[in-house]
Amino acid sequence: MTEREARKLIDAQARTILCPRCEEEQPMRDFTTLGMSPFYADLLSPIYRCKRCNHLFAPRQLASRLDGAA
Ligand SMILES: [Zn+2]
Repeated sequence: MTEREARKLIDAQARTILCPRCEEEQPMRDFTTLGMSPFYADLLSPIYRCKRCNHLFAPRQLASRLDGAA
């Protein structure tokens, strides 16, 4: 396994997500997001399920998310 320059699971530009178990990059829409309450959505991390290996994982929210926060 080669180390990537910037390890990240979610590629917002390519709209793909990398499964941390099978390490397959797949389109975001192919991942199932487990349901969460819309009221608390901003306090929660979405949980994704990989269609290939059924792995459940919740990517950390990265600093790019904080751009707009003062
Ligand atoms: Zn997988």
